[in-house]
Amino acid sequence: MKEDEIRPAALLDEYFHLLKLDAESLAKKSRDFVEVACPFCRDDGIAESFLKDGFHYRLCAACGSLYVSPRPRPGQLASYYVDAKAVRFWSQQFYKQTGMARREKMFRPRAQLIKALNERGMFSDTGMFADVGAGYGLFLQEVRALGLFDRLIGLEPEPHLASICREEGFEIIEKRVEDIKEGDLSVSVAACFEVIEHVFDPVSFLAGCKRLLKPGGLIILTTLTIDGFDLQVLWEQSRSITPPQHLNFPSIKGMSLLLSKTGLAEEEISTPGELDLDIVRNVSRQRPDARIPRFARKLAEADDAVREDFQQFLKRNRLSSHLRCIARRKR
Ligand SMILES: [Zn+2]
Repeated sequence: MKEDEIRPAALLDEYFHLLKLDAESLAKKSRDFVEVACPFCRDDGIAESFLKDGFHYRLCAACGSLYVSPRPRPGQLASYYVDAKAVRFWSQQFYKQTGMARREKMFRPRAQLIKALNERGMFSDTGMFADVGAGYGLFLQEVRALGLFDRLIGLEPEPHLASICREEGFEIIEKRVEDIKEGDLSVSVAACFEVIEHVFDPVSFLAGCKRLLKPGGLIILTTLTIDGFDLQVLWEQSRSITPPQHLNFPSIKGMSLLLSKTGLAEEEISTPGELDLDIVRNVSRQRPDARIPRFARKLAEADDAVREDFQQFLKRNRLSSHLRCIARRKR
């Protein structure tokens, strides 16, 4: 997989231009923002910080996670996701033009992961599956095609997206997972791909996910880890570090602490990413002024065999920026 297949460069440029404008306009309301401690370990020590598009990113001194503080209140974030120009551009242009590629390169492999975990005997049962943050329902469609679960549920708080999913025939709960109560559902397997980086408070978010699950139920979560190669190399120059969309970047340690704070049992924290070197190479080629260490540039421009070998090294040693976490609700 190449970065360009799921994120074409020309569309991305316009998207990031809008994101920056949206961020700067929201940052003008920063007097209403709230100061938070590390969203993964709750420590308030800061090792270093930087400012991007009007938002302060802080590196946690205790667990090494990166997070925005002060950050917009939950209500401000909700309005942002309804009103922002970048969000509209994503749904009207980006999503439509890349939908097929994203289905094939992102959502189908995620469904294959669900299938593989089932074959590994990781699921207590296959009664109910929930997609937390169902979006346009693309992942639910792929899971439905597996024919594995008796009942599929999507959680999607945004009304427009929820209605798109319903038109596809899915059962949608129009709530944030934080508002789910114990016993509302009894989910066997829940997934939340690329959601936790957006939420106001990952601990409340994951606690909500836990309440969805039946005892023994499994949650599969992906996000970006700040321990990963492209984020470490590019740091504040990384396009993944975009406020106010991406507020939370756990370290591997931070992710593990988040699970123990929520009372979920860790089954796996891995970084099966494919794109680190590709991302660094794209930045190196497209933005000649980017500050990239010579050695990282050399690796990114190396022969395919070397690049592949190094990407495998990153995967094996939990040093890719794509993090996958699998956890279980204790019985
Ligand atoms: Zn921390």
